[in-house]
Amino acid sequence: MTPASPQPVPVLRLEHLTKRFGHITAVDDVSFEVFEGDIFGFLGPNGAGKSTTLYMIAGLVWPTAGRIEIFGRPHTDFLAVRSRVGALLETPAFYEYLSGRKNLELLARLQPGISPRRVDEVLELVGLSARGRDRVGDYSHGMKQRLGIAQTLLNRPRLLLLDEPTSGLDPEGSAQVWALLRRLVAEETITVVISSHLLHEVEEGCNRIAVINEGMIVACDEVRNLLFFSKDDYLIVFDTPDACRAAEACLRTLDGVEVLATGDDAGEILARVVEGHLVWVRLQEGVAPAVLTRLVEAGLAPREFVRQRKTLKQFFFDLTRRQPTRI
Ligand code: ATP
Repeated sequence: MTPASPQPVPVLRLEHLTKRFGHITAVDDVSFEVFEGDIFGFLGPNGAGKSTTLYMIAGLVWPTAGRIEIFGRPHTDFLAVRSRVGALLETPAFYEYLSGRKNLELLARLQPGISPRRVDEVLELVGLSARGRDRVGDYSHGMKQRLGIAQTLLNRPRLLLLDEPTSGLDPEGSAQVWALLRRLVAEETITVVISSHLLHEVEEGCNRIAVINEGMIVACDEVRNLLFFSKDDYLIVFDTPDACRAAEACLRTLDGVEVLATGDDAGEILARVVEGHLVWVRLQEGVAPAVLTRLVEAGLAPREFVRQRKTLKQFFFDLTRRQPTRI
């Protein structure tokens, strides 16, 4: 018998993590794992507990209960763990009258084993080599953010924690930060945990996400899995209400087809996603081609026959507007 391949050790594992501030439970029994190469998005409305969780992972806030493991070791194991974590959890503060390079040199001197060459390397990584000798006071907001990320890279971390790093940046500044993160993951084998309110960015930039609401994790999965209502849901769209009604009647007679909603019942969100008269169905695996053929044979060729996908924004609002239910 071939032995089963070992499970990869998560870069980060939270187990039943809880933080109370007096009577406020900011983080409530949170568990999830992050694996090497993830750009893991941490989402939630204001006050949901994102920053508190990141501060606990960074060792800056002490958990009330639960456990954090980084590279398989308790997060408090300073020698084994802390030196491999870089964190940018607040707006970075620099001496504005000094150059970006000089600021990094000063920070490098505070940590053992960082060569002057590393300062040049991190400036290159974040795309600031050409401006390294300019005063930080003359940098744009986006350049300061990238200098902040450069600072966290000085000690070659393997895990990067970022709390809303693109907040307040213009689209170009955000795109540069996301491009930088992708580059760090690909070229430096860094794993990234990032909180953000900018859902469209998270949808594009992250491969996995956890959604936190009122301190509880309400969803955690790959982005592509979370964005389908269900992987088997389809929208079948018709030009007229008559065709839609006739198709619904036809679909209800077919095996492997569950009609979930039609027309106006299909709801506000769906109505915004597609224009037309629609039937929302859940299909058993493999029956989609036969269902489409059957409709065409019945003279009910649809205008569209699509697997339904939510935007992350719709998904997020759905999850966070209702009473949180722990997964
Ligand atoms: P935002 O998106 O607004 O930054 P968040 O998801 O990061 O929110 P947290 O900052 O983690 O949320 O706050 C979670 C809850 O914990 C809030 O109710 C907040 O008021 C509370 N909280 C956070 N830090 C403290 C503290 N030091 N003392 C008391 N309560 C706190």
